[in-house]
This record gives sequence, C-alpha cells and structure tokens, in this order.
Amino acid sequence: MDNYILQVENLKKYFPIKKGFFKKKVGDVKAVDEISLKLERGKTLAIVGESGSGKTTLAKSIMRFYDLTEGKILFDGKDITTINEQKLKKLKQDMQMVHQDPTTSLNPRKKIKDILEAPLLIHNMGDAASRLKRVKELINIVELPEEFLYRYPHSLSGGQKQRIGIARALALNPKFIVLDEPTSALDVSVQAKIITLLKDLQKKFNLTYLFITHDLSLVRNFADDVGVMYLGSIVEYSDVETLYTHPQNPYTQSLLSSIPVVSDDEQSMLPKKIPLTGEIPSPSNMPTGCKFHTRCPFAEDICLTSPALLETEYGSFTRCHLVEKINKQKIGV
Ligand code: SF4
Repeated sequence: MDNYILQVENLKKYFPIKKGFFKKKVGDVKAVDEISLKLERGKTLAIVGESGSGKTTLAKSIMRFYDLTEGKILFDGKDITTINEQKLKKLKQDMQMVHQDPTTSLNPRKKIKDILEAPLLIHNMGDAASRLKRVKELINIVELPEEFLYRYPHSLSGGQKQRIGIARALALNPKFIVLDEPTSALDVSVQAKIITLLKDLQKKFNLTYLFITHDLSLVRNFADDVGVMYLGSIVEYSDVETLYTHPQNPYTQSLLSSIPVVSDDEQSMLPKKIPLTGEIPSPSNMPTGCKFHTRCPFAEDICLTSPALLETEYGSFTRCHLVEKINKQKIGV
C-alpha cells in the first residue's frame, strides 16, 4: 500500500472572468496555480494563508467539488482527476469535509439524528435499526449526550454544533478529512477543545487530515507538515518544527512574527517583526514575478521575475530569490 493517501501534481483551478453583454472571457482568476503536495496516511498537512490566498479553493478542488483546470490528483492510489460522478460518489465515503461555520453547515429544520443519518441514507447503508445504532455511536464519539439526537441545531452552542459537523464527517468511516477552518467561528477556549477532540479521533481511527487555516498559532501542536499559501501558490513547504524554528520565506516570517505569544520564551523563538503591509492583491490581477513583491520589505529588481520553489539548507522548500541574502543579513554576516 502506498504510504501517501493523497498526491496532488501541478493542480490549477482558474475561474473565468467574463464581461460585457456577450459575457466574453477577458481573463482568469487564478485561485490555485500549479500546486503539488503529498500527504502521508495518518498525518496532518496544514495549508496556511490569509483570506483570499486560495486555500479553500485548493481544498474544494481536492474534494472534486470543482472540475479542475489542469493537474492530477491521486487519492488512495487512484487517479480521481477525471473520475465519473458514480465512482466519485463511492469514493466520497473515504473523503469527507468539516466546514468552517457549523451554524450554516447544519440544516436548521432537521433534528441532529436526521443530520447524522443523512450520509448513511445517501449511501444506502443498513436498515433503520443499524443506522440508529451508528448515529448513537457517532454522538458518543464526539462526546455529546444521546438526548441531543432529538434536538434541533439552534439549541446547541457553536462548539456543540461543530462536534455534530465532525460526527457527520465520520459517519461513513472515512480515511481522509478536510478540516476547513473548523475552529475559526468559535471562542478560543472552545477552539482548544475541538482541536483536542480532532487529535484524539485521528489517533483512534488513523485519520489523515488536510487542515485549512489562516491561524498559524493553531498549527504547531496539530500538524505534521505545513504549506504556506499566497495568491494561489505554495511559497513555503516544511515540516512543522522547521517552519517555526527556521522559517525561510519573508511571507512566512511576517505571518509568524504576528502570532500572539504568551511568554518571553515564545517571543524569543519567533522571527523579528516583519510588518505585513497592505492587502493581499486580487487573484484576478496578479502581480508579475514574485507574487509577494508588492508587500515584501526585502523586494529588489530580481523579484520582478518568478522564483521557483527550491529546497533550503533545512530540508524545507521556499519560493524566494533572496533567501540566502536575507538570512545572512539577519545573522549579520
Ligand atoms: Fe520578497 Fe523577493 Fe523573496 Fe519575493 S522573491 S519573497 S519579493 S525577497
């Protein structure tokens, strides 16, 4: 069996920009632009970036919610790039998604029991008695009382609703789950409990996670590897410890330098403050060359040409022409 459950090669997802009476195509929004990544079984890969970086489009492309513009996706050894609807439906038993906002992702008119039973019904699984047994198992797995099965979503707190979202994703015993900002709509104290639950479930069921987040502070204790995304491209790819101890790309450094810290020790481990100025440019009007050059404090003329994603001395990969020069400046060589 292949050690990688997911392999993505040169994935592109462009959305056409159409204008005028005849809706003529005048360009593309390059939401995902030539992304390659690999995800090992039982591990967590975090995709981190600001809003508008394309991370959710990447996740939805991998889940095949969209037709792809270009590229290839192998899931569990099978090419799912051009798979037909019927085969895709079968495969979706192994690939599930937990959505960002538990309030909008749960049908307010259905009881929790019906919400959890829905995936089993869609896939014609079992009879009424076996489905009820599974639904009770699911509510126990996410540590909620069985009496919640007969309630409506509006009577649950945000954290409880997200537990239901997680239970629904587990209903079909998937191998792989996309977690699309699963805690961003929750209070900080509830966030920590949901992250702990997700870690416990990963161990228990050998789950593989693709964790989409804008919040680097959540990643260190949760992910194994991290891809930092900017305007549709991966600009740094690394194991989690190397990313925190030796971030190489100026964009990663600026994201890391702005995460909240609780102690002087933590502060001393973070890169010197690199202010992230301005807004992320529109993906319909990409800067030429290095996409970060309009906001990068180190930008030079060479940055008007595109840098490749190259291996660093720490074994990570970064997309920056000047990484060696910037590092030498930092240590005063
Ligand atoms: Fe900054 Fe230039 Fe490196 Fe891009 S290539 S991150 S603009 S220094």
